[in-house]
Amino acid sequence: MSDYEGTDTLATSPARPRPHLKFSVLSSGSGGNSVYIEAGGKCVLIDAGLSEKKLSQRMAHIGRSLNKLDAVFATHEHSDHIRGMGPLLRKHQLPLYTTEGTYDRAQHCLGKLPGFFRIRAGQPVDFDGLVVEPYATPHDAEESVAFVIHYRGLRLGLATDLGKVTAAVAGKLQKLDALLIESNHDVEMLDAGPYPWVTKKRIRSDVGHLSNEACGEMLATVKHSGLRLVVLMHMSETNNHPELARITARQALGRDDATEMIVAEQNHPTPLIAV
Ligand SMILES: [Zn+2]
Ligand SMILES: [Zn+2]
Repeated sequence: MSDYEGTDTLATSPARPRPHLKFSVLSSGSGGNSVYIEAGGKCVLIDAGLSEKKLSQRMAHIGRSLNKLDAVFATHEHSDHIRGMGPLLRKHQLPLYTTEGTYDRAQHCLGKLPGFFRIRAGQPVDFDGLVVEPYATPHDAEESVAFVIHYRGLRLGLATDLGKVTAAVAGKLQKLDALLIESNHDVEMLDAGPYPWVTKKRIRSDVGHLSNEACGEMLATVKHSGLRLVVLMHMSETNNHPELARITARQALGRDDATEMIVAEQNHPTPLIAV
């Protein structure tokens, strides 16, 4: 999982070539979020919480270019998801796909855009077979969504910035091949940590962020034999530790579970991973 030049491929059958759906988490955490996804000759970016320059560097790191993107999606208007959005879209003349609520709230920070397509939870967007399906998330934003990505029977789930595990969200995350899920904080570290009380309350709320325990609860709900990769996302550098998050997620999956697990980082992209 350390070779940035090549593509890491999860276990595949040699007899039958698999379709390829690839992704890289370019950045994850309160300092900026962005996920790159490609399949069938199409490529999209989910969120642009880093500057265009940094995104460009991270794309180069995985052997890809922002010039080739077909579209950019925004999950919600918080700055760690749209900080670099306006300049990115203008420089590369890319359309933004987001909900009306997010667009309204983010407009002042986005500036004039080359194109805007309104998306709605439950209404998938199809790029020649690479399908991006938005679903509603419980979060303190105007009309926040997360996504399930489909390509020729493969399913990649993204689930970050959600305050609690709901039946609706868990329902969307069934039968996935790979899941990118928030494991934001350890509850005890958050309680004992330096954040102001009001911030702690917001993070812990039903519209804040998933704790390690809540992430584990979600994993226990959606795990199945076909889930081959879990990426732990949006991890707090102040109120969490990667090993704590890993242990909790592993326990939720079960001792003998063979699901691969990696932790997405704030300052380095993951390799380009084939689902
Ligand atoms: Zn966020
Ligand atoms: Zn947020």
